[in-house]
Amino acid sequence: MTTSIIGFPRIGAQRELKRATEKYWKGNLSQAELVETAQELKNQNWQQQADSGIDYVSTGDFSFFDNLLDTANLLNIIPHRYKTLDLDFLDQYFAQARGYQDENHSVKALPMKKWFNTNYHYLVPEFEDDTQVKVNQGFLFQDLQTAAQQHQHIKTSLVGPFTLLKLSHFSGSKQLADFVPDIINAYRQILQQLTAYQLDWLELDEPSLVYDLTAADKELFETLYQGILAEPHHYRINLQTYFGDVRDIYQELINLPVDGIGLDFIEGKNNIALLQQYGFPKEKVLFAGVVNGKNIWRNQYQKTIELLKALPVNDNLVISTSASLLHVPYTVAGEAELEPALKQHLSFAYEKLTELHELDQILWHDAKDLLVANQTLFKNVNHPTDLTVTQRVQALTSSDYERLPLRSKREAIQKAEFKIPELPTTTIGSFPQTPDVRKNRADYRHHEIDQATYDQFNRDKIKRIITWQEKVGFDVLVHGEYERNDMVEYFGENLSGFAFTKNAWVQSYGSRGVKPPIIWGDVSRKQAITVAASTYAQSLTDKPVKGMLTGPVTIFNWSFPREDISAQESVTQIALAIQDEVLDLEKHGIKIIQIDEAALREKLPLRQSDWYKEYLDWAIPAFKLVHSPVQASTQIHTHMCYSEFNDIIPAIDQMDADVISFEASRSDLSIIDELKANHFETEVGPGVYDIHSPRIPSQAEIYTIINKILAKLPVDKVWINPDCGLKTRGESETFASLKNLIAATHQKRREL
Ligand code: GLN
Ligand code: ZN
Repeated sequence: MTTSIIGFPRIGAQRELKRATEKYWKGNLSQAELVETAQELKNQNWQQQADSGIDYVSTGDFSFFDNLLDTANLLNIIPHRYKTLDLDFLDQYFAQARGYQDENHSVKALPMKKWFNTNYHYLVPEFEDDTQVKVNQGFLFQDLQTAAQQHQHIKTSLVGPFTLLKLSHFSGSKQLADFVPDIINAYRQILQQLTAYQLDWLELDEPSLVYDLTAADKELFETLYQGILAEPHHYRINLQTYFGDVRDIYQELINLPVDGIGLDFIEGKNNIALLQQYGFPKEKVLFAGVVNGKNIWRNQYQKTIELLKALPVNDNLVISTSASLLHVPYTVAGEAELEPALKQHLSFAYEKLTELHELDQILWHDAKDLLVANQTLFKNVNHPTDLTVTQRVQALTSSDYERLPLRSKREAIQKAEFKIPELPTTTIGSFPQTPDVRKNRADYRHHEIDQATYDQFNRDKIKRIITWQEKVGFDVLVHGEYERNDMVEYFGENLSGFAFTKNAWVQSYGSRGVKPPIIWGDVSRKQAITVAASTYAQSLTDKPVKGMLTGPVTIFNWSFPREDISAQESVTQIALAIQDEVLDLEKHGIKIIQIDEAALREKLPLRQSDWYKEYLDWAIPAFKLVHSPVQASTQIHTHMCYSEFNDIIPAIDQMDADVISFEASRSDLSIIDELKANHFETEVGPGVYDIHSPRIPSQAEIYTIINKILAKLPVDKVWINPDCGLKTRGESETFASLKNLIAATHQKRREL
């Protein structure tokens, strides 16, 4: 019996890779030094696995930026515009990841997308008509060589051909099918080259198999693998899936001539039933993903053992993680400030390695003491509970979720209340977080300035930005969010039930990481959160100032969730806490309140049939609960990021907000057609320019966009705003862009 993992984090326990890479980008570190740092991190990862008793050491999971981009580069799927830059291989790779600019060139980065249902982002490979798929030399082979000098049993992973093709973009006239023969040849060549190395397993990652598959998808998969597996090889091949179950292709998978199949038994809830119904071939090895690769909680051994015993397999079993450990932080060890009651229940990457080894010991080496210790731990789970919170949730009835009067009535009441001209102008909330703003917050956190000094600085900033917005001519103003570092952390810190780590970073993309808070207890509002800033801002102007909150679904999605209660219950608790803040703002004279749901779209289940019953059926009501008790004249806004909303527009309308702003400018405003087609009722501000770039849109450009919007949507439904918060931008470009936005709006108004 053996243990293995799908992959390991690579940013470094102290974010060494981030630091080295960013230094390299700035020209302050040589490429040799960067490669050396990477090698040290790989060595440490391998050693950590070996020391923890993991039988197969994983290689191929390291990346300087992203694994899918690595695979594309290994296969020479590199668009022309990067090749002509004439850079060395690594710099050409970074050019694709981040864009490239010098005196003679300016090339944008490849588009980035969310990796399945995680907060990790991959770069979208691009095939052009003249893309020559072939095998380049790369770290894959080099790492195998190095790892073999240090360890005996090695597994290497590579994104499989099906997932690679399904996630790629085809920019010319040739389409996916046209590249299939070349892809088969290239993978065969990799298989052939790998025979030169000491290797136990080649793991081909095919997470795209957990999506809904069409007959054509299945045919593509079969063609690819029949072709590739014809290549002779002395090592074994594992076809690895994760993030869900393989219900659409299980029977084909077990008949595939591979040596192992990797299945996720955590998120892939149907996988057990598939095995029980169709069996599992005796001659194949099952890589059973039983240690959660995405959450941060200890594994309950008893449950895992029961799960494994229910599987119709005997000896041919490797116990593994459900997904790459890339999605969890490195180690709990350094978190000295966490409450011991919480800390003992946490398991990050290092601890998960130990769990796999301990499970192996319990199952096959009779290590009863380890099982007993784990059982004892689970007898003592003390999530901080709060009876008032749970009772409040229990007492909710369906009427608590419905706001009255209906939106159509409210719209008239609000138009009379605010008397804003047609095409109201506003922003999404944050204004640029200039270095002085960050320094003020850092100084306060490090106790270098007192609360009064800190607050006064922010009040001055609020005053300045309110005055600026009034002068430029905005209709609905914001206070600027100078007090926030992060839209979730800021609220989490003001809610009971949340815990924060010092160093639990998880890679988001490239050198960027996030440090999600942990939901550990029942959630309630400790004190008023935004009331002081919003009322101060409102006291400075006669124009309405929008209150600015983060919604419950986004707070939940960007945290590590509790698992002892349902997602629905947890998100309802958060919704009630935010409802308290909404009502407090309303009581203090804030008449427009925005509740951001930036992350609502991203946790949509991978399979369409699960969208409502597993997610939207509780996510949408949670949002409705937050604002249902406000008065008809109080206007509720929301905001959403990421452009692919098209399929869930009716659900967004059901959130029953009065106004919504969308990040839409990068998707060519295709969303407005969908809004029209769905008779979208909510008033809407489809962002009129892309804030993710420092580029300043001209008045004419914005004017054209406004016309484009008005060609599809009735003027009394449309708001004019940028497409997201401005906090990452500089002030000069922001001010110039916003002035153009106002000028374009006024130009249009004069014609109405
Ligand atoms: N109100 C937030 C801001 O402006 C929204 C951020 C977001 O959409 N990610 O920063
Ligand atoms: Zn946004």
